[in-house]
Amino acid sequence: MASNEELFKKIISHAKEYGFVFQSSELYDGLSAVYDYGPFGVELKNNIREYWWKSMVQYHENIVGIDAAIFMHPTVWKASGHVDAFNDPMIDNKDSKKRYRADVLIEDHIQKIEDKINKEVEKAKGRFGETFDEKMFRETNPRVKENLDKIDAIKNRFYPALDRNDLADVKTLIEELGIVCPISGTRNWTEVRQFNLMFSTQMGSVNEDANEIYLRPETAQGIFVNFLNVQKTARMKIPFGIAQTGKAFRNEIVARQFLFRMREFEQMEIQFFVRPGEELKWYEYWKEERLKWHLSLGMPSSKYRFHNHEKLAHYANAAADIEFEFPIGFKEIEGIHSRTDFDLSAHQKFSGKKIQYFDTEMNEGYVPYVVETSIGLDRTFLAVLSHAYREEKLEDGSERVVLGIPAKLAPIKVAVLPLIKKDGLPEKAREIMDKLMYDHRCFYEEKDTIGRRYRRMDALGTPFCITIDHQTLQDNTVTIRDRDTMLQERIAVPEVSAVVTSKIAK
Ligand code: ATP
Repeated sequence: MASNEELFKKIISHAKEYGFVFQSSELYDGLSAVYDYGPFGVELKNNIREYWWKSMVQYHENIVGIDAAIFMHPTVWKASGHVDAFNDPMIDNKDSKKRYRADVLIEDHIQKIEDKINKEVEKAKGRFGETFDEKMFRETNPRVKENLDKIDAIKNRFYPALDRNDLADVKTLIEELGIVCPISGTRNWTEVRQFNLMFSTQMGSVNEDANEIYLRPETAQGIFVNFLNVQKTARMKIPFGIAQTGKAFRNEIVARQFLFRMREFEQMEIQFFVRPGEELKWYEYWKEERLKWHLSLGMPSSKYRFHNHEKLAHYANAAADIEFEFPIGFKEIEGIHSRTDFDLSAHQKFSGKKIQYFDTEMNEGYVPYVVETSIGLDRTFLAVLSHAYREEKLEDGSERVVLGIPAKLAPIKVAVLPLIKKDGLPEKAREIMDKLMYDHRCFYEEKDTIGRRYRRMDALGTPFCITIDHQTLQDNTVTIRDRDTMLQERIAVPEVSAVVTSKIAK
């Protein structure tokens, strides 16, 4: 079994070799943390986006969508707090010249202590068996207690230091904890500095009247500034949601993890507007609903967990991440935030225009509260791809690489393959392809042996291959091969489309 790091490398090279993901501007040696989706990647990405849109917009009467522009008035980012506070504390190691997020270094250190505690608990579980009382053990075992105290001490020092913007103290803490650079192994650190993650550019043709504007760092603000437009034109009644998918840009300090942390990425968001005082109820509701959505993709529940935030962003009164177990460990895939009325109130203040909703049932006007669910499309793509990647040893001793992508998300649903390239089989296959392509995303291939073509389709995650052979010419039937079981059955040509539809729906 490959180590996780090796596995991650294999997935990245598979993604490139099979036309899923390329490094941006590869021809010029690449642009760091920016990626392009290839012919099969774009299909998978579109399918995930469409699945999300259907489940959130089409299946919810009280959610409507928008597509706001990436450029927005610069004051939007002043109001939202991004100009003043969308910073990450960064620190450089002078020996390796590598840059890190100071908060991530400390959080990773805490995680290591937590791993020690979990190991201790696992060991004790094995020793005591059925009678093991985990809660009691965590409270009383001296080694566990000592480590828990250590974590508390770090948090009690670190979070207040960040709140005070006392970066010197964050640096001292890194030194006191003995945190070393993973590359150079040294503690030769620079000072900690704040770094704003927004990209800016100039709008306007003449320098003098050009305005500095930003590439949006999140899609949410496009929804907030359109709150009244949407509420009025679509006649929405609270509680209701506005959905949006689209690009966001962040000049990330540490961007070394393939699609996990990109400088240009795509978000899929719902801002769900509720009555003041009801936000925490809806926050719990959406936490549960969103986890259900993830599970409906077909990945096991053991791959997911919640991480409730202790340190809340300036706009939130409750926040949690849904984390997924990537090959690089459990990491955030989606954020769920109770954002209070922070954003709408801020836009009301900065624009000088009233943003209120009149609740006819309560006979009262108010600034709505909002619960946000924000999921990364690229991170979801990475989750699906990395979970799907399998290397299998077959009974005949050969090996295959297969992407077990759930059929509903697979880039290509059906491969249409004439067994050989003569005897009228390609002509018959083309005839089938010409009809089937209006129902399903199909792929026609006649080059190479049938075995090699099956392997290639396995590697692309194509769930079904139909093969046109000599019998097809006699009785108008084809074989349909299942990617996962590799079993084949014969079906009549006119039934192919319906059979594929029902298999995808399973
Ligand atoms: P992180 O803590 O990992 O930087 P975040 O908490 O800043 O993420 P949010 O602002 O909550 O992220 O954004 C919502 C979602 O957008 C995240 O859950 C993630 O899936 C996605 N996302 C955020 N930043 C990136 C990025 N640099 N590359 C890819 N996806 C991202």
